[in-house]
Amino acid sequence: MARTTPSQLEAIRLAKSYRKGPVTIPVLQAVSLSICRGEFLAIVGQSGSGKSTLLHLLGTLDAPDCGEIRFRGHRIDRLPAAERDVLRNRHFGMIFQFYHLLPELNTLENVLTPLLIRHSVWGYLRRRRAYRATAVQLLEKVGLAHRLKHKPRELSGGEMQRAAIARALVAGPEILLADEPTGNLDQATGQEILEILGSLNQQQNLTIVMVTHDPAIAARAHRVVRLVDGRVENV
Ligand code: ADP
Ligand code: MG
Repeated sequence: MARTTPSQLEAIRLAKSYRKGPVTIPVLQAVSLSICRGEFLAIVGQSGSGKSTLLHLLGTLDAPDCGEIRFRGHRIDRLPAAERDVLRNRHFGMIFQFYHLLPELNTLENVLTPLLIRHSVWGYLRRRRAYRATAVQLLEKVGLAHRLKHKPRELSGGEMQRAAIARALVAGPEILLADEPTGNLDQATGQEILEILGSLNQQQNLTIVMVTHDPAIAARAHRVVRLVDGRVENV
């Protein structure tokens, strides 16, 4: 395992349920989880067990009903929305099963969106040359430098996920949160994406939290936890 320090990201007794009309659906009961810097953690569990819910809470895309989330020891789950946006933009990268690329932007533009969001127009334009160089470098690293001008509809699933990985990394995050990143890819392409994630973890000490329902995919991680009945079990 790469170098670690205690608890870069921590969930403390998280509970979350969804309300659907008069019905309450309990999803997470008391989830506690401590993730170290440089760790590659897989979260497994059956479909509907709350994996995406947990990942969204860890990434402050949604708030728990109770419990806490701490990043580098500081509580982040009760921050105002604007501060959570900044936190995500600066420290967290996210990738999803269906890539979530913007269809009207080409590969390079999609990768640059986190940096566009971070700055005013002028602030971005001043740094544009350096940012484009960073984005192209990342696209080279994920093996997509030959598709800079392609729109998402002109890319394969594996290529779209490579673009999404480059986008997640362009702002220099410390943690990558990945929700079923290989879930929509054939096995060989999924393995290639996992190789990229594994080498980012090893070479850059990037912390990775990866959700998957597939134990074979999870085996690539250093540590696997399973969500069962709203709680986390070590595997
Ligand atoms: P997983 O990612 O493990 O498949 P999810 O976290 O997506 O599970 O969902 C857990 C449970 O919560 C499921 O039963 C799902 O139907 C329900 N759920 C998820 N999101 C919502 C929502 N926004 N509103 C109501 N129920 C939801
Ligand atoms: Mg899910």
